[in-house]
Amino acid sequence: MPSELPGTADIVIIGGGVMGASTAYHLALRRAGDVLLLERNAFFGQEATGRCAGGVRYQFATQVNVRLSMASLPMLERLGDETGTDCNFRRCGYLFALTTDDDLAAFRRNVRMQNALGVQTEWLDGDEVRRRLPRMRFPDALAGTFHALDGLADPNSVVMGYIQRARQLGVRARTEVEVAAIETGAGRVQAVHTSAGRIACRHVVNAAGPWLALVGAMAGVDIPVTPVRRQMVTTTPLPELPADFPFVIDFAQSLYFHREGDGLLTGMSNPNQAPGLDQNIDEAWELIALERAAARMPMLERAGRLSGWAGLYEVTPDAHPIFGATPVEGFWVVGGFSGHGFMHGPVAGQLMAEFILDGRAQAVDVSSLDLARFAENRLIHEYNVV
Ligand SMILES: Cc1cc2nc3c(=O)[nH]c(=O)nc-3n(C[C@H](O)[C@H](O)[C@H](O)COP(=O)(O)OP(=O)(O)OC[C@H]3O[C@@H](n4cnc5c(N)ncnc54)[C@H](O)[C@@H]3O)c2cc1C
Repeated sequence: MPSELPGTADIVIIGGGVMGASTAYHLALRRAGDVLLLERNAFFGQEATGRCAGGVRYQFATQVNVRLSMASLPMLERLGDETGTDCNFRRCGYLFALTTDDDLAAFRRNVRMQNALGVQTEWLDGDEVRRRLPRMRFPDALAGTFHALDGLADPNSVVMGYIQRARQLGVRARTEVEVAAIETGAGRVQAVHTSAGRIACRHVVNAAGPWLALVGAMAGVDIPVTPVRRQMVTTTPLPELPADFPFVIDFAQSLYFHREGDGLLTGMSNPNQAPGLDQNIDEAWELIALERAAARMPMLERAGRLSGWAGLYEVTPDAHPIFGATPVEGFWVVGGFSGHGFMHGPVAGQLMAEFILDGRAQAVDVSSLDLARFAENRLIHEYNVV
């Protein structure tokens, strides 16, 4: 209830998606003091996190993203033991199908790098891709990659697991409270102004996902995160779909498929999608995406549309997240994962607790992913974005 909101807190977290939930839990584990998590919606985890495809993978193009996965995916696997809420982690594997020479060259480098880090991604030739996907049409596949430990997990369970455990550890987590302004003075955070009143605090964590830049502006901090709409549909049951069907990505088309219940979830990223906060379904794009999907998987012609929705990616100029301090002391940022933040949410929260309590992150070296890199032109590019 907003009326019960305290007038002061040690740390206020803005946003109750996976980043805010994980940060709250990891701060609570470290006994960080009086932590308050604020979400403006009626429920936690209903924005980017609740609208995501649930995919989790080790297959990335940069070492830092692979290392984030190496730390974060085992945390998802042990979430049940840690918080009491299991997130139904399924190791179905990710299969990237490659149809262009440029992608072939890039993925060869990626697989070498992943293997060197201990991630056992397999290289498949075109025939092997076709053999593994007998129900799909990939006459043009030149090669593919497969990693058996990639898979799927349930976003809602991750958010609620962290929030419920954080509450048991003393965090106050509130919905229907919107942060409208951030008060600064003497170069640091002083308070947040919310729909339920002013809360004096020394630290604020901006975990507002696609709204990261808007919340940054409240503190006078420029955060280059752009919201971009993405959408997907699920189908009625498809009995022919094998139980062990992997998460398949037709990389050149940014077209993906995975099992969802007894049916399929499929989506395709629109390369011409204009940035913005619109989360209505683009019906014309849905039609194009479904036609492309059916061309790859003819059995879709026999399926009905069960549901569909749109959500927002939180995109940075180099498709890598932003962690840590800002020019305003006590104002922290975590976000901008550019379409793959759900899987990195667990370790992201741990890293934020380390930043705030220890002054530096240790679980993974994310020093290259600071906010200052944009002004200092130290961008690093992630090729493997879907
Ligand atoms: C269609 C789609 C598919 C995706 N698929 C995958 C996938 O397969 N695997 C993967 O790892 N990632 C995927 N992602 C990306 C992933 O969903 C995001 O990177 C991640 O969920 C971001 O989490 P977040 O907590 O930063 O943002 P969010 O979950 O959006 O949470 C931010 C919260 O902040 C709240 N908020 C904003 N402003 C305020 C304010 N002023 N006051 C109070 N509250 C505020 C919002 O209401 C929101 O609940 C996908 C995303 C989309 C859209």
